[in-house]
Amino acid sequence: MKYVLLRDDDTNALTPPACLERLYRPFLDRNLPVNLAAIPCVNTSATLPGGRLEGFLMARRPGLPERLPLAAGRELLDYLAANPGYGLLHHGYAHDYLEFDSPRRVELAQRLEDGATCFDRAGLPRPATFVGPYDQISRTAYRELARRFRIVSTGWFELRRLPFSWWPRYAARKLARRRHWTAGGLWLLSHPGCLLSYQRPVEGMLERIQAAIAASPLTVLVTHWWEYFAGGQPNEPFIAVLHQLAEWLASAPDLQVISFAGLAAHPPALPQTPFGAF
Ligand SMILES: [Zn+2]
Repeated sequence: MKYVLLRDDDTNALTPPACLERLYRPFLDRNLPVNLAAIPCVNTSATLPGGRLEGFLMARRPGLPERLPLAAGRELLDYLAANPGYGLLHHGYAHDYLEFDSPRRVELAQRLEDGATCFDRAGLPRPATFVGPYDQISRTAYRELARRFRIVSTGWFELRRLPFSWWPRYAARKLARRRHWTAGGLWLLSHPGCLLSYQRPVEGMLERIQAAIAASPLTVLVTHWWEYFAGGQPNEPFIAVLHQLAEWLASAPDLQVISFAGLAAHPPALPQTPFGAF
């Protein structure tokens, strides 16, 4: 049996539910869980290093406060409540640039506590999984995450950013050439890059995803809802690939699409090396 986790990043109080509905109805109808990495208290003027406004703010309107907690997204919350096929992950705090790539422990802990409070105030369960903005997590941040979460999902792991006590397990995982591992009580999941991205050609996209899934016992597929609507129009060929993926995932033998919450609560038996790499 192979396991697949679909992770869609950057849902926030300003995410139009219609976008999620357009993308994920075929998944929900087939009982395939969709994991939304949600920004607890979004920075409403978050920009990329070049100064360009972040794509997940596409529905921004004038006069908004500087930060907007999930509880302000009433429409979104109603939509999520009506569709239990969605699960939430804890994605940064405000999605400020490199906000978790910091050595300042007190500040990091505060961001995590404030983020958790945002889930409480929105009436949402606290996620057991953390996703770092821009895949950048400092050593100090990892230590704080290990105290609060069960799973960290990120793009890759770098020795120089990890707590020193995790180094032997990291080395064992490297030697075993495994994608995922465990350390400090956390499941540390990497992913094979954003295969579902508007920066990649749609031709062959589904085949590349299928190949990645075939190569590992567990695959995290990462995408970003706003990429399907960049420029204000739905990107139909890209959406078509996503929907073909839903159809294939539902019908492929020996393959199970699971939620991060399910993984945290009932981890499946995966072929692991002695040092917890898989
Ligand atoms: Zn993000």
